[in-house]
Amino acid sequence: MEKILTLTIGEMREEFETKRLSSVEAVKTFYKRIKEKNPVLKAFLETREEKALKAAKESDERIAVGAQNIRALEGIPMAIKDNFMIKGEAMSSSSKYLENYISPYDADVIEKLKNAGAVFLGRTNMDEFAMGGSTETSAYQKTANPWDICRIPGGSSGGSACAVGSGMASCALGSDTGGSIRQPAGFCGVVGYKPSYGLISRYGICALASSFDQAGTFTRNVKDTAEIVSIISGKDYRDSVCEPNEYINYAENLNNNADILKGMKIGIPKQLKDYEIDEPIMEAFKKAVKDIETAGAQIIEIDAPSYKYTPALYKVIMCAEVGANIATFDGIRYGHRSKKGVSLNDEYAKSRAESLGYEVKKRILFGTYVLGAKNYHRCYHQAQRVRTLLINEIEAAFKQCEAIFTPASLQMPVKFGESLREESDIFIMAANLAGLPGITVPVSMSKDNIPIGVHFMSARLTDKRLFEIAGGFEAISGWKIQIPDI
Ligand code: GLN
Repeated sequence: MEKILTLTIGEMREEFETKRLSSVEAVKTFYKRIKEKNPVLKAFLETREEKALKAAKESDERIAVGAQNIRALEGIPMAIKDNFMIKGEAMSSSSKYLENYISPYDADVIEKLKNAGAVFLGRTNMDEFAMGGSTETSAYQKTANPWDICRIPGGSSGGSACAVGSGMASCALGSDTGGSIRQPAGFCGVVGYKPSYGLISRYGICALASSFDQAGTFTRNVKDTAEIVSIISGKDYRDSVCEPNEYINYAENLNNNADILKGMKIGIPKQLKDYEIDEPIMEAFKKAVKDIETAGAQIIEIDAPSYKYTPALYKVIMCAEVGANIATFDGIRYGHRSKKGVSLNDEYAKSRAESLGYEVKKRILFGTYVLGAKNYHRCYHQAQRVRTLLINEIEAAFKQCEAIFTPASLQMPVKFGESLREESDIFIMAANLAGLPGITVPVSMSKDNIPIGVHFMSARLTDKRLFEIAGGFEAISGWKIQIPDI
């Protein structure tokens, strides 16, 4: 297996700077892998070899000139989920509605990544408008799990997770509304992170549910995550909820030292016992808990009774926000326009009917229902109240511990066509409901060689601390960076 495919960002940068490897060579190696494996794995919807090689060449020229010209992610090959706008390029959110859509501007994170020298390899498959957890609702293709191609890679950012997990990119961007980065990261054996709400601008990202949506990353280790987050976070006046932070170096002093865990209190929700957890996950989780204790941390039980409402809360609020966001897709301003409409309303209806998938239609209908005059108080308003309850309970838990530790998913990735149980990702979904940062770290392989991930969540805007904790755990987890030999 080509060593280049498994290098971390830090290692690749060192190779570039010592001239043992050029960005052009690295990019070519990834495209070779993509050409061989993407026909089976279907992680990428589209690649952009010519543009990527041009960018890589420019990076090599900067590296040749010397240190002061080298930007933070100079020449690093990266995959981008298909819901980030890149000026002048296609973005479909894996929907037929946006099949011919060309982005008129760069998303804030794209602009920041371009300025940092990252090289975009192509756009990755996802569930349509990020609605799903498997990539099966994509209007174009189903991405396979690189460790077992009969299984789902998770989702909605399954294409990005698969691209990094299979060695088709060094790192990737994803978006996470209800676990869409952290669940597939666990299934594909990579690190997946979602920030505190407001840490990273949502400008130029195709919306799913605005009060949950955040951009985040897939990487090979925690340090790489912190490096990318240092670049893509920070204030952006074009996103009104963006925190007004100046530059923070999240990777600073991050040295994967398990000493950090000494004397730390880590909480495990009492409610974890109320759910069925797949055997390999339970085994891996128990071992991880033991390792954390051996490192000197104290495991405590925390109590957040409202965890059980998470799937219902998420569904009501997310669908209500979907209804509002997708309302802009009317077939008039942009996107698919039906040729069969006989009146304005008929035109709207037919444009959507012809181009949106079943899952999207279902969520629009449900969202419209919960916002209807008769249901607003009973459903939407009530869900927002219980959301506050959950937030208060979790905030209280953070008075007793620094991080909440759970499996990243309660279920192993299922075969295509089988569905995950509704509650399989409630412990990571809570991070979206409460606006908290969360990170999945791979820990081990099941007996049939499928990766298993665990998840840390910390208090709002303690993302830097979260990286230190996850990095400390990474140092003792025993996980080896690896890609499948497929
Ligand atoms: N699986 C969840 C859903 O279908 C989460 C999606 C997401 O985070 N984008 O809504």
